[in-house]
Amino acid sequence: MNGVQELKNNGENSVQHEKLMVIGAGPAGLAAALYAARAELQPLILSGLQLGGQASLTHTIENYPGFPEGVGGAELGELFQKQAERFGARLEFDSVDKVDLSQRPFIVNTYGKQYSADSLIISTGANPNLLNIPGEKELTGKGVSYCATCDGWFFKGKDVVVVGGGDSALEEGLFLTRFANTVTIIHRRDELRAGAILQRRAQENPKIKFVLNTVVTAVVGEKAVQALKLHNVKTGEDSQMATDGLFIFIGHTPNTQLFKGQLTMDDKGFIVVDTLMHTNVPGVFAAGEAADPHYRQVITSAGMGAAAAIQATHYLEEN
Ligand code: NAP
Repeated sequence: MNGVQELKNNGENSVQHEKLMVIGAGPAGLAAALYAARAELQPLILSGLQLGGQASLTHTIENYPGFPEGVGGAELGELFQKQAERFGARLEFDSVDKVDLSQRPFIVNTYGKQYSADSLIISTGANPNLLNIPGEKELTGKGVSYCATCDGWFFKGKDVVVVGGGDSALEEGLFLTRFANTVTIIHRRDELRAGAILQRRAQENPKIKFVLNTVVTAVVGEKAVQALKLHNVKTGEDSQMATDGLFIFIGHTPNTQLFKGQLTMDDKGFIVVDTLMHTNVPGVFAAGEAADPHYRQVITSAGMGAAAAIQATHYLEEN
């Protein structure tokens, strides 16, 4: 039987019923859809606005196994989609506006449609926080990056800047020293937030230097990053610094606002899951960066998606 049924809601609005809906179409959601489709659940994926997730914004992904020459981020997303669809997954370009997880089946509203679903996989991802300064958006992918693992290689022998003082900034800064000639870490305070071990490793690395008490106020460049405008928050002094790249690591925000008050989250808004991808609501699973404050890699998100789909299949069999 098909995963879709039309239900009548008070005899008025038509509600589309699904066995399994996947919210979000990045690596986690598309891998979940593939596994659910192969379990003959004909999952419906609501892709939101960004098909392929953050990975689709990455020029080349060189650390996803199976692609020894690398693969374009957008191309990998398309391949994931094609593979899921081959087994019966259906994809709608629609954004979820509201969910009600207090009743069964669960209710999912998009701006124009209402669905009910026996089970849900939430894979809405996370977005890196932006500095929101002039030039940042225009030069993203042209020297401004939010992923050292993805883009570090392009800065072989170049000078780059990392913004942030947390574990991510230092860890990614250290990673960038494999490629870059110099890595300048710019932090807005005089004290780093990162843990002691990372701080020591960064301070001992001859390629890394620190510029403290300083914020970046603009990215300068036409077709590529050429320089940064800086402001020293202690002295009030403004300056300009030449650089080839700007890596911004000032935290991530998971796209989980829709589920606030319904799903258990940590203090940063990441959905709390157990090792089987269960949320606190039976029948609702979460995967990928919406539920992962640690790894944020295509392969780990896809793995969580596969696990969530396997667990959702068990749940639907048992209920
Ligand atoms: P984070 O700990 O929240 O650090 C963000 C950094 O960015 C802070 O230094 C913060 O400055 C700075 N920042 C925030 N907004 C800014 C702005 N608008 N302009 C300039 N600077 C700004 O984020 P994270 O480093 O991504 O780490 C997230 C979590 O993952 C943490 O719990 C971390 O421990 C964990 N993590 C662990 C590891 C590891 O253990 N190896 C690696 C990566 C991440 P302030 O310090 O002034 O607030």
